[in-house]
Amino acid sequence: MGLFDKFENITASLNVIEQQCCAFFNIIIEEILSATEAVINGRRVILAGTNNYLGLPLRKECKEAACRAIEKEGTGTTGSRMANGTYSSHVALEQDISDFYGRSNTIVFTTGYSANLAMLSTLVGPKDIVLLDADCHASIYDGCRLGGVQVYRFRHNDVDDLEKRLKRLRKQDTNILIVLEGLYSMLGDRAPLREIASVKEEYGAYLLVDEAHSLGVLGNRGRGLSEEAGVEDAVDFIVGTFSKSLGSVGGFCTSNHKELEIIRYASRPYVFTASSSPANIAAAKAALEIIRREPQLRERLWENADALYGRLKEMGFRVGPEPSPIIPVRFEEVARAFSAWNRLLDQGVYVNMVLPPATPDGTALLRCSLSAAHTMEQVEKIAGAFSAVRDFE
Ligand code: PMP
Repeated sequence: MGLFDKFENITASLNVIEQQCCAFFNIIIEEILSATEAVINGRRVILAGTNNYLGLPLRKECKEAACRAIEKEGTGTTGSRMANGTYSSHVALEQDISDFYGRSNTIVFTTGYSANLAMLSTLVGPKDIVLLDADCHASIYDGCRLGGVQVYRFRHNDVDDLEKRLKRLRKQDTNILIVLEGLYSMLGDRAPLREIASVKEEYGAYLLVDEAHSLGVLGNRGRGLSEEAGVEDAVDFIVGTFSKSLGSVGGFCTSNHKELEIIRYASRPYVFTASSSPANIAAAKAALEIIRREPQLRERLWENADALYGRLKEMGFRVGPEPSPIIPVRFEEVARAFSAWNRLLDQGVYVNMVLPPATPDGTALLRCSLSAAHTMEQVEKIAGAFSAVRDFE
């Protein structure tokens, strides 16, 4: 039995995949042409699968802020937040995020992945219980594993199932943390947050919401689903990432629990990794400022999302349960998804392909994500490419 024998299944799947679609795992963005276009395999394509919801990675203000930070502070911090990796810019961004959400305390982490890893491995431990939505992101599952908390899953977006488990598990001296996402990254649907918040209050549990895909996308001020649903006071912890609407790299947790500060001292993913670079911090800070002052970006994003969702639905594709900037197109057979994905690329449209077991219900997904930077003409082109794929089938 060799070290690599355990990867036999993956190797076999890769061989099948490569026969059908050699480019899939080797997609290289050869050149970025704009927020919505790139060169892939030597040809110009529309990017419709990048989580670049607001088009900010190429915004002048964000690029200039990042360049200034590099000039002033260099390319990396070469240290963890706990040692020499906390610059005044990290602290200033924490203050900005606290102000944005109207909360007392914020911790900035190196990525959204490490924010979840840190929070779930440290906030709760073996004596506590986490009740999580079955469709939660891998970083949430990994954080739970790292800290050894008892984990129970409830069915995706099923409040009755959550309540049933709360009833069964409630014990004195056991803290229960409910964990879910605002906008789900695969199906693009919202959590029923108002109902969950009320169940949470009834059972005296805590609530953590990962707003990775909803920051800058939902709510009057872009604060996410908690704001849109009007239940911000019931949400104890909001986790987010800089890697989507903010167009940078980094993550955070914000809360009104002042004890959040303790996490800095107790959390391995905070202590044992280098902090986010000065350029990433500066870009995220500039992007947050744009989200605050340009609500019209959110409106543009939703116009595009509604338009593409409507067109794909009209064509008879199996899309997600509600209009959203994340639009999954579902295929029962993996081979058909591969063929559609290849054809879309041939038509000049790039979307994400997501395969089981990463998908919620075992189907293969072509996952589209829209941006405020897409023009309506580009949205039409994306719809046109899907229409050509459907006609071929
Ligand atoms: N949470 C969710 C819901 C995500 O979709 C992602 C990224 N795909 C993350 C956390 C991790 O964020 P990051 O890319 O900043 O590590």
